[in-house]
Amino acid sequence: MRVFSWHWELGGIYMTKPRILIVDDNDVVRETYAQVFKQKGFNVISAVDGVEGVDFATKEIPNVILTGIVMPRMDGFQLIRTLQENVQTREIPIAIISHLGREEDRRKAQELGINEFIVQGAASVNEIVERIKNLVKDGESFKLSFDPYAWDAPRMAKTLPGKSFNCPNCQEKMILEVIPKPEGAGYNAALKCQKCNYIL
Ligand SMILES: [Zn+2]
Repeated sequence: MRVFSWHWELGGIYMTKPRILIVDDNDVVRETYAQVFKQKGFNVISAVDGVEGVDFATKEIPNVILTGIVMPRMDGFQLIRTLQENVQTREIPIAIISHLGREEDRRKAQELGINEFIVQGAASVNEIVERIKNLVKDGESFKLSFDPYAWDAPRMAKTLPGKSFNCPNCQEKMILEVIPKPEGAGYNAALKCQKCNYIL
């Protein structure tokens, strides 16, 4: 990986919001959580059952997933097993929202390594959202995207090998991935293609 040391004087970059995938067949539950997470600065993706959940999780690689248990087509436990078998999705932290609060479901969740087992109604939505926010790893790399129309973008682009922000491999727009160095010693950054994972 080539490491860039750009200064933070760039007008053309903005931070990508953390993304949560909410999987539940209950419209009210989904909408309620979607609203609160949006207020807390998340981008929200919603799925109505496990099948859709697996599909969106694989395509979008969210930072965290909140899933219900009982759902048509594929339930929450099957969703978790499927995602844990996939190298791309197995590291995504998952919280379970249980409408019934059954002890056997809690045990199953533990067996799958899921520590956040939230019983709907046992805590306020705001408290629940705070707990789920804590699952999003601290110190994880965050991503910056370039606005090619910003005033300083052309100047920035000239410093790049391909003289543009597009991937030399597939032409997709590249994202600047910023990784904090340990103990607050600044940042490492690399340009990465979101489509083919090419790293400049
Ligand atoms: Zn690419």
